[in-house]
Amino acid sequence: MDFSLSKEQLEIQEWSRKFFEETIAPLANTHSREKISTTTLEKLSREGFMTMIVPEKFGGLGLDSISLSLALQEISKVCGSVGVTVAVTNMIADILVREGTDAQREKFLSELVSGKSLTASFCLTENSSGSDAGALKTSAKKISEKGLGENSEGFEISGEKIYVTNGVFSNFFLVMARSLDLSGTKGVSAFLVERDRAGVVLGKEEDKMGLTGSSTIRMSFDGVKIPKENLVQAEGEGFKIAMRALDGGRISVASQALGIAKAALKAGVTYAKEREQFGKPIADFQAIQWKIADAATSIAAAEALIMRAASMKNVAAAQKNTTGASVLSFTLEASMAKLYATEMAMRVCEDMLQIHGGYGYTKDYPIERYCRDVRVTSLYEGTSEIQRHVIAREILGKTL
Ligand SMILES: Cc1cc2nc3c(=O)[nH]c(=O)nc-3n(C[C@H](O)[C@H](O)[C@H](O)COP(=O)(O)OP(=O)(O)OC[C@H]3O[C@@H](n4cnc5c(N)ncnc54)[C@H](O)[C@@H]3O)c2cc1C
Repeated sequence: MDFSLSKEQLEIQEWSRKFFEETIAPLANTHSREKISTTTLEKLSREGFMTMIVPEKFGGLGLDSISLSLALQEISKVCGSVGVTVAVTNMIADILVREGTDAQREKFLSELVSGKSLTASFCLTENSSGSDAGALKTSAKKISEKGLGENSEGFEISGEKIYVTNGVFSNFFLVMARSLDLSGTKGVSAFLVERDRAGVVLGKEEDKMGLTGSSTIRMSFDGVKIPKENLVQAEGEGFKIAMRALDGGRISVASQALGIAKAALKAGVTYAKEREQFGKPIADFQAIQWKIADAATSIAAAEALIMRAASMKNVAAAQKNTTGASVLSFTLEASMAKLYATEMAMRVCEDMLQIHGGYGYTKDYPIERYCRDVRVTSLYEGTSEIQRHVIAREILGKTL
């Protein structure tokens, strides 16, 4: 197995490292107090970070999944808030590329590529449906109304969504809603909903522990009328679309966690060499050395799992069928990468904070931000418990 990166992948890694160190690093602490500014989002969009995964023929950077992971790691090393903002936008862009119609790409993907919409959002979770996402209640009723789309046919969406990442920044949302009278996941369809439609209400920003520069809001859709052309794929395909998106999304979350863990290790190593106790650097104590050795080893293991999942996604992307579904499944590999990388990153951040002693608990050092930012990675896009369910299901061949 060849673990080396291609020339292009190394260039992407270097380019994103340079951009984020120069442009975003000076803002990282500000993002602990304030949301990412429109000016920053515009810069990210102009550089192409919001549409890295979009093929060049549609105006994106055309990166493969390994390059996307490398860039997300570099971003998250510097600022987790920007990491999640970019990752979710690329996930929606990827759905539009793989599952959208030409008209949907023309309208929505072009908005992302041009920067007219600085980000995009994924609306699956509701008050009473988190891990059990298939129990969602938001409804999409078929309607016929003059002037609505090409044939006056459309849907009226009603319901509430919570934890909408990028909510305040996005011009459009991918909303999962029940349009068929079927229980569970089968009745769910996916819709593209523009922010300026009547009835789209942006709610409260969540007051979060970490990733404080990113936007996470509640939203309600109060009888929002959209044309039939905004339906992604066929009715009843929504849950499968969401799960396919999350397969890729989980590799991205694993990459965010890995990036934060790498930054934490670097901070721990620097501090251990500088801080002296008992007349010598604390790096001379075996207790500290073992924490660093364990961290470096588990980072390397996570990296291997992520690279395996990302390279399978690359192969899958080349083999997709007409519905956008991959012939090759990488669900198992993506869940393993997310489970291991996120739990590993939490442990590494915790150990590196311990190396900082009391100073680690202050805002004088970035390690406290890494600890806050990394915590959510084992929660969103499927908790660790759900990843274990997915892994066991794939291995045992049993449904949840
Ligand atoms: C900052 C942030 C950003 C987010 N962004 C988005 C977004 O953009 N779009 C979106 O749709 N959602 C988003 N989410 C929602 C996120 O995906 C959910 O929080 C997550 O899926 C868990 O759902 P829940 O919070 O309702 O927890 P619950 O499902 O209520 O779970 C509570 C606990 O029970 C456990 N549990 C549940 N079911 C089982 C089971 N069968 N077996 C064992 N344990 C179980 C869980 O693992 C967890 O520990 C975001 C969340 C956060 C915090």
